[in-house]
Amino acid sequence: MALEEKREKRPPVTPMMIEEEAALRNGSRGLPPGPWAEAAGPRPRTTERHIAVHKRLVLGFAVSILALLAVTMIAVLLSVRFEECGAAADGPPRAGGNGSLSGVARQPHGAGQPPGRPEEDARGGEAAEEEEEEEEEEEWQRRRELPPWARPRLPRHLRPLHYNLMLTAFMENFTFSGEVNVQLEVRNASRYIVLHAHRMHIEAVRVAEDKLAGGVRVARTFFYPQTQVFVVVLNRSLEVQKSYNLKIIYNALIENELLGFFRSSYVLHGERRFLGVTQFSPTHARKAFPCFDEPIYKATFKISIRHQATYLSLSNMPVETSVFEEDGWVTDHFSQTPLMSTYYLAWAVCNFTYRETVTKSGVVVRLYARPDAIRRGSGDYALNITRRLIEFYEDYFKVPYSLPKLDLLAVPKHPYAAMENWGLSVFVEQRILLDPSISSILYLLDVTMVIVHELCHQWFGDLVTPVWWEDVWLKEGFAHYFEFVGTDYLYPGWNMEKQRFLTDVLHEVMLLDGLASSHPVSQEVQQASDIDRVFDWIAYKKGAALIRMLAGFMGHSVFQMGLQDYLTIHKYGSAARNDLWNTLSKALKRVGKSVNIQEVMDQWTLQMGYPVITILGNETTDNIIVISQERFVYDSDTKPKDPARGDNSYLWQIPLTIAVGNTSHISSEAIIWVSNKSEHHRIPALEEASWLLGNINQTGYFRVNYDIRNWKLLINQLTRNHEVISVSNRAGLIDDAFNLARAGYLPQNIPLEIMRYLSEEKDFLPWHAASRALYPLDKLLDRTENYNIFNEYILRQVASMYLKLGWPTNNLNKSLVQASYQHEELRREVIMLACSFGNKHCHQQAATLISDWISSNRNRIPLNVRDIVYCTGVSLMDEDVWEFIWMKFHSTTAVSEKKILLEALTCSDDRNLLNRLLNLSLNSEVVLDQDAIDVIIHVARNPHGRDLAWKFFREKWKILNARYGEALFMNSKLVSGVTEFLNTEGELRELKNFIKSYEGGAAVSFSRAVETVEANVRWQRLYKEELFQWLRKSLTQ
Ligand SMILES: [Zn+2]
Repeated sequence: MALEEKREKRPPVTPMMIEEEAALRNGSRGLPPGPWAEAAGPRPRTTERHIAVHKRLVLGFAVSILALLAVTMIAVLLSVRFEECGAAADGPPRAGGNGSLSGVARQPHGAGQPPGRPEEDARGGEAAEEEEEEEEEEEWQRRRELPPWARPRLPRHLRPLHYNLMLTAFMENFTFSGEVNVQLEVRNASRYIVLHAHRMHIEAVRVAEDKLAGGVRVARTFFYPQTQVFVVVLNRSLEVQKSYNLKIIYNALIENELLGFFRSSYVLHGERRFLGVTQFSPTHARKAFPCFDEPIYKATFKISIRHQATYLSLSNMPVETSVFEEDGWVTDHFSQTPLMSTYYLAWAVCNFTYRETVTKSGVVVRLYARPDAIRRGSGDYALNITRRLIEFYEDYFKVPYSLPKLDLLAVPKHPYAAMENWGLSVFVEQRILLDPSISSILYLLDVTMVIVHELCHQWFGDLVTPVWWEDVWLKEGFAHYFEFVGTDYLYPGWNMEKQRFLTDVLHEVMLLDGLASSHPVSQEVQQASDIDRVFDWIAYKKGAALIRMLAGFMGHSVFQMGLQDYLTIHKYGSAARNDLWNTLSKALKRVGKSVNIQEVMDQWTLQMGYPVITILGNETTDNIIVISQERFVYDSDTKPKDPARGDNSYLWQIPLTIAVGNTSHISSEAIIWVSNKSEHHRIPALEEASWLLGNINQTGYFRVNYDIRNWKLLINQLTRNHEVISVSNRAGLIDDAFNLARAGYLPQNIPLEIMRYLSEEKDFLPWHAASRALYPLDKLLDRTENYNIFNEYILRQVASMYLKLGWPTNNLNKSLVQASYQHEELRREVIMLACSFGNKHCHQQAATLISDWISSNRNRIPLNVRDIVYCTGVSLMDEDVWEFIWMKFHSTTAVSEKKILLEALTCSDDRNLLNRLLNLSLNSEVVLDQDAIDVIIHVARNPHGRDLAWKFFREKWKILNARYGEALFMNSKLVSGVTEFLNTEGELRELKNFIKSYEGGAAVSFSRAVETVEANVRWQRLYKEELFQWLRKSLTQ
């Protein structure tokens, strides 16, 4: 499963003009839709600058407003229709019903909100049953055991072998009915069948001994909503080693939310069309059919879907036969699946069209999407790279893709970026459709990496499945790591694994994992409600960073061999992390190395956080250095989450690589395993002027600190000849220095001094690292009165490179993307910094480009900087530009363009417009559910909107929590996005008061939010003045 990536969100743009025009007013720094999208500072009024544009605008807008009115009316009409359909499907809640199959006792209520059709209420014999129930409960109490249905995990006495699932989808009222037949193997005799079922109405239940006529009598059945299970109590025990068939007939809603079997819609030729699609991971298959919904219960599935012939249906396997009926209905019977878990089972009912391709090994790959997107060819890029990637993985893993086909389905609405259902992977349109004529490199990168990720899961996750959710990081960490390896295969010059991995994964997750409220990457989970919690950036990014460190110290070819063994041994089965460690240890042994991988990795996966290594070299003699480790935390005042163990008790076995350098040369690296608090090591060839560098190429998951003398030597080296130090270490030094300073391990001036060498830096990565590391610092300062000093300092560091690189002149084409990724990304990064911090030329350029677009109605803005230009324009220019962008947002059909237009609207410094946007964001007809969160977060990043977004969030919390609460990842993204840059005592109080008064949900996110804001406030108190003092001095020198 791919979460919404934050990759593109680190771009700074904080347009701030240096005060010199009379027509300045206090205002903003507008920003591109990134984290940088804002900041405070004076900005130009529109008086002289855009007069010529203005007249044309007036005329143009008269027309556009009319168009907008028309669009709005259509939207309103459609929404009315949509609501009618929704209401029809919802129906009144039902009480228990009664079934009529033989052997069936009382029928249960649907758990949660019971859907289905009205039934008669048959209450015969209830008194007797209640008595029986009470007796049973007492019996369990006497035995001091929880009854099997009340335990957090399913009881182990039954195992599903095969499911026959027949569904009928009623798209006209968004309901479906189903009949499931589960073949069960009995491991221990029991009278109870306990399986998952949630939010459905069960009509009938029958149990029969396999292959024999005659049922086993069902005494009673009931739902137990606390554990989301359905219980069948039998009159006699099922016998060990016999196999039984359980048949359940049920019905449920095709929900208007994002989980289970849910619906969404799109408009084609002015007509709204609906589709139904599933999202079962991690615990939502139980909303679509009664099943043993834990990954360990692998079974085979044979699915049939009956639907109106105007739709088509898809599932994991290809259709075997279709049976048409005279009344316009058709039943598709799909081939049987191999052994698999429920969470990546899938189906869809839609009227999409497709294009297809075939891999060398004969796998048929199809991309299904709305017909207009298919016609435009928006899916062709994804289709093409999917074919190549299947070939890549088959070669890398030496295990063929296991199914005859793979369908990629592009849907308008989805809770995640994508989901790796075996053979039928589902993607939100913005993460798979791509129109090469209007997509930036960044967008192309996002699409590419999401596809690489989901394809990796066809092996890691689908073919070999983690035993339980505590190890979800295994599958997600691998898929995230392979995003970089797989993209390197497609674009060999991009060095994703060696370079961009650092900024986008390592640096990113160390921000999170440096909080005392973090958690181990392997975390225990029991309740269904907790399982969503494990899908967070710690699982994905820390998982990937640990895997990369492991590959680093094992050596890549041995690592690859180990993975091949692991997949071959466990295919079609399940595996836990120890299975992986054992296989990898064996692979190492085969090449004559002996490392107990389990022992090393347990420290990294079972402990939260990461170490900071301190290397002290200057006060020792005989080339002895002192290496110590401690847990890195941003706010050392925070009490440890686990009071039983202070931060002092954290220890890791750290594969520290180290090298010695002098003015023109760096030694080859040596590896030192550091496992104690403090160790002495002898380093040969350590001379007076030589410096030490740790964590070579940043392959390790930790930070490195040095004595000040060594930092100064490194800064000198960077200034005189930075190329002696590798690109990845240059980026690493920048990130470590900024974060060590933020946490108080290092004086505030060191990172700013390091930055000075950037005027000579021609590589993208160090600039990118600097830009990202500056971002939180910028947010800490952007509402302070001395902000200008900081702003001025950054502008000076950027100015010469901005001049050198200039603006892109032409649009990118495919071959250009391949050839000049590094150069174009560098230029983009520098333009973003320049525009964010108010480089005058950058502002003028952006304004000119926007004016040209408005007056000519032709968008000639270079693709790779469009987001920066839109945001800068909205921030600097008057309200007409906002309206223009708003209109374009409505009229464009290209998903990539729509997204950056929407984000640009958050860059305004007009609080009325920001408020208007916030209110519109909750209207699903205007802003897609999954995009509304981005709107709110981006407004919070804008210093002019931070308090608005924060207020809006508190006022609308109930609505937001109801909408996103179940997809916990979205909720936590929202909570952290809105709160992470609050940094005053007052805001901290507001946050704490709000948490006291709110009801339920997202507790983990809120405790993280409090810690983050406390750390912000603490930094302001302790270090802000130190930083400004140094800046003042530096600027006058
Ligand atoms: Zn994933």
